[in-house]
Amino acid sequence: MVARATRVLVIDGVGATFAGAVAATVDVLRKGAVAAVPTETVYGLAGRGLHEDSVRAIYAAKGRPNDNPLILHVGDPEAAWPLFALDDVAMARARTLAAKFWPGPLTLVGDASDVVPAAPRAGLPRVAVRVPAHPFARALARALGEPFAAPSANVSGRPSPTTARDVLLTLDGRIELVVDGGPCRAGIESTVVDVSGPRPRLLRPGALSLLEIRHELPDLDVRAPGLAAHADDASPGLRHRHYAPAVGGTALVDDAALDEAWGDVDTGMVVRAATARRYGARAGFCAVLPDDAAGFARELYAALYRAETAHPRRLLLQAPPPSADPDDAWAAVRDRLLRASA
Ligand code: AMP
Ligand code: MG
Repeated sequence: MVARATRVLVIDGVGATFAGAVAATVDVLRKGAVAAVPTETVYGLAGRGLHEDSVRAIYAAKGRPNDNPLILHVGDPEAAWPLFALDDVAMARARTLAAKFWPGPLTLVGDASDVVPAAPRAGLPRVAVRVPAHPFARALARALGEPFAAPSANVSGRPSPTTARDVLLTLDGRIELVVDGGPCRAGIESTVVDVSGPRPRLLRPGALSLLEIRHELPDLDVRAPGLAAHADDASPGLRHRHYAPAVGGTALVDDAALDEAWGDVDTGMVVRAATARRYGARAGFCAVLPDDAAGFARELYAALYRAETAHPRRLLLQAPPPSADPDDAWAAVRDRLLRASA
């Protein structure tokens, strides 16, 4: 942990500031410290992924429970395979998904090779790996020449940050460096798929839609992602309280509850644009998000941080449109809203 204010490096495009920020981040990581970096999903808190001390520094800066494993980020699929010890079936699935979706917001989980120490796996037999699509994150992994581990760059339990400013809200003074690459394109974490076992299995819905994955792996087991489905040990991170804004109380509600509270100035709301249009202007805090699932996901976490600074007595989150389809485009948003309000 560092006592002084966190250094901020702003990058624009892939010019000189970009190259300088990659080099500066490599320096920070090589000495065992951690840095917040932009990815296409959310800002990540990066440290050397195969070094126990660096991994411990990540957990310490976040106050993250140490039974919650980290995702390893590599620059290219070729750098991912040595981290795994997969049987032929699992390897075929992994290669199919990698060919289609890497670089991108998909994390693959499978048995770890002995290259991977216990720390980033939180002692589990399996490891989680992805190739990020963000040019900075990818350049960092390549320049470092080894995987970096990166959970979201926030104090544990709070929403994931999608801007450098939101990183600083919880980690200023606790980390040495944040690289500001502007707002994240997806704004929600990666989709996590376990490729081992009799059937490939969804561990966490995320930025990559289930429809797209199912197109490649028709037997994908999604078993109603959400709180209840993850009581087992397959995806330990899902056990913990997560994504909660620091406001009095947060509830996931239907339109009837929104309607009733619309006139109450002490109630904050996060709603879809069509709803805001239907009910008209309101006096209390109101984050108006896009009507489509991807747009809503992109802006959700920033809205939760904005809500904090408005200090509503309580915060109502509009439930996604109801759907019986397990591959529903709202799966990831529904999961995060449930856990933000649990
Ligand atoms: P975060 O870094 O906060 O986005 O969380 C990463 C999530 O990926 C964890 O909370 C787990 O749900 C999942 N994950 C990471 N590593 C593993 C692993 N070795 N086995 C199973 N799930 C994992
Ligand atoms: Mg997180």
